[in-house]
Amino acid sequence: MTQTAIVTGAAGGIGEAVARRLAAGGADCVLVDRNPLVEEVAAAVGGVAVVGDLTDPQVMVRAVEAAGGRLDLLVLNAGVNSADKDPATLDLDRYQAVVGVNQHSVVYGLRAALPLMRAEGGGSIVAVASLAALHGVPQDPVYTMTKHAVIGLVRALSPALAAENIRFSAVCPGLVDTPLTAGARERFQAAGIPMLDPDDVAAAVETTLRTAEAGTELVIRPGRPPARYIAAPLPDEPRTESRG
Ligand code: NAD
Repeated sequence: MTQTAIVTGAAGGIGEAVARRLAAGGADCVLVDRNPLVEEVAAAVGGVAVVGDLTDPQVMVRAVEAAGGRLDLLVLNAGVNSADKDPATLDLDRYQAVVGVNQHSVVYGLRAALPLMRAEGGGSIVAVASLAALHGVPQDPVYTMTKHAVIGLVRALSPALAAENIRFSAVCPGLVDTPLTAGARERFQAAGIPMLDPDDVAAAVETTLRTAEAGTELVIRPGRPPARYIAAPLPDEPRTESRG
């Protein structure tokens, strides 16, 4: 049977690459983004576009409706950086917008999608987190906080969802060459800092969606083999790691 997928943040970057891969693999895709360019990407992959701001919980409700009664794969990818380093001078509107998409929209996506996956008896969900989910990035503390929250959600929810045949995992990329990082691309190149190609991340997302054990945290960095972790429910239990 044809699989149905929803990909958030699919107008460009990693989300577009994921949608192209899933569609090429035969999935019917719903592409969600606030950028109307998502309609062009959806047309190119034979999918359906939902244009809206994911900080509004109703947008993921609309996306699930657009999936047409079946949902196998969900990729919670939309996210933004924050420009503010110092909480004392935080721009509150920008702060709430960053937390709204990076953190709240992941919960809104689960809230909208889980009833359908439960009704079908299973599904697979990947959140696109970041290396910033696993260590502190001094250049962007708010982004770091939101990505830690995403990993926390995967760790907390994945065991119970796995018991319902719903796998919930995260992909944690290092720097990726996308519109998000375009402003700093030349600086990274000049400093010899390598970046991942969005399609490399998309391939990792697809593999994680299709085969990874529930609760996987897949870390991918340029020029290094991927590292796969499974979250431990208690901090005093060792985390398991396997490479490859
Ligand atoms: P991108 O800016 O190229 O794409 C993100 C997409 O999300 C855009 O199309 C944007 O319009 C959409 N989006 C942002 N806020 C939205 C909102 N409120 N409502 C609806 N759509 C919204 O970025 P990317 O690099 O492809 O990033 C995708 C994900 O990967 C993000 O969660 C990001 O944090 C994560 N990530 C990126 C990098 C990197 O170096 N680029 C590294 C690690 C993790």
